[in-house]
This record gives sequence, C-alpha cells and structure tokens, in this order.
Amino acid sequence: MKLSYYCSSCKKENYLKTSASDRYAFLKEYGKNEINERCKHCGNHTKRHINRLHAEPNKLVLIGGVLIAIVVTVLLWDFGFISTLSATIPIGIWMDQNKKTSLFNRSMVK
Ligand SMILES: [Zn+2]
Repeated sequence: MKLSYYCSSCKKENYLKTSASDRYAFLKEYGKNEINERCKHCGNHTKRHINRLHAEPNKLVLIGGVLIAIVVTVLLWDFGFISTLSATIPIGIWMDQNKKTSLFNRSMVK
C-alpha cells in the first residue's frame, strides 16, 4: 500500500510506501505522528500529520493478480471453467486492496 500527500510548495503528489495496515501501525513504523518528507519534484520539505495522508491501492498488486489470472487461464485451459476463475482473481485482489485502503483511511491517530 502507498500513502499519498501533496507537496506544500509545488502541489504535486508524493508517495510513501508502507506495510502498515492502519494509521496506528504506520505511526509505530514511522515513529512520529507528523511526517517530514522531501518532495521528489521540487525538494521542498513537507510536514503533514499522519491523519492527512491518504492510502491508495497498490497497482502493482493488481497487475500481479492479472498475471496470476493469465497463468491460471493457461494452466486450466482444458477444464472449461477458466473464464469465471481468471476473472475472479484480479477482482478479489482489487476488493481486498480497496478494503485495506479504506480501513487505513478510516483509522485516525491523535
Ligand atoms: Zn514539491
């Protein structure tokens, strides 16, 4: 999952990578309730409270799901139930990602 925030100087979007499932876990991981990160676009340091970071689903995970679906389709080609199964995998992964990000976005730290 990645966390996005906008630079206070150039207003471009920046990302932080995390394995935390909610803001409490991210607070533990980061150690402070306010981030102070350098903008990748202009180099300006932006301070943001953790509650103002916005989690986004990881597109790489979804792409991985599509790849798995293709492999499954090829492997199970002879069985005939491929179309349903291979469509279910990326949708399932996408729903799981959405659930995780909404869980993160709903959690608030002090
Ligand atoms: Zn910037």
